[in-house]
Amino acid sequence: MSMEDYDYLFKIVLIGNAGVGKTCLVRRFTQGLFPPGQGATIGVDFMIKTVEIKGVKVKLQIWDTAGQERFRSITQSYYRSANALILTYDITCEDSFRCLPEWLREIEQYANNQVVTILVGNKIDLADKREVHRQRAEEFAEAQSMLYLETSAKESDNVEKLFLDLACELIREA
Ligand code: GDP
Ligand code: MG
Repeated sequence: MSMEDYDYLFKIVLIGNAGVGKTCLVRRFTQGLFPPGQGATIGVDFMIKTVEIKGVKVKLQIWDTAGQERFRSITQSYYRSANALILTYDITCEDSFRCLPEWLREIEQYANNQVVTILVGNKIDLADKREVHRQRAEEFAEAQSMLYLETSAKESDNVEKLFLDLACELIREA
């Protein structure tokens, strides 16, 4: 018998280059805040938010990296037991997109085989500075069997949808 107040608990881990907006996405979703100019670290390992999808209570444990985004410094323990990965790049930063294969190698090496991965192109409010075309990213995601979504943590565009879509997918696969 369970006394828990949720039907599912999922661990979601954000990865991707420093500066792409991972912390801002988590902050926007869990606290409804966008802190412009805020530093990278939020001082805790993870944030919790419970969402309800068609009467099903889903508790999301969301892990953010505290400035350890350099490859190989994020260890196996960070990926261990992750149900989902949010692989984030910045649509205004070609370099953050070009690093994605490195991140995919890490996922292959450290994450479990069942992990659900969603590729997120963040900062779509900066459309005039876009360096990565949407179609190119969509094709890349599809070739790697990843979901794809574009977001703005700043304008709260698609942020709720990101986590809800992920929760739906995780329920489906559970
Ligand atoms: P992290 O290193 O991946 O955690 O990135 P941060 O969340 O710390 O964000 C890095 C920088 O990008 C900060 O200056 C944020 O204010 C900015 N930023 C994050 N998300 C967005 C966004 O959606 N739009 C814009 N314009 N800036 C963003
Ligand atoms: Mg950060």
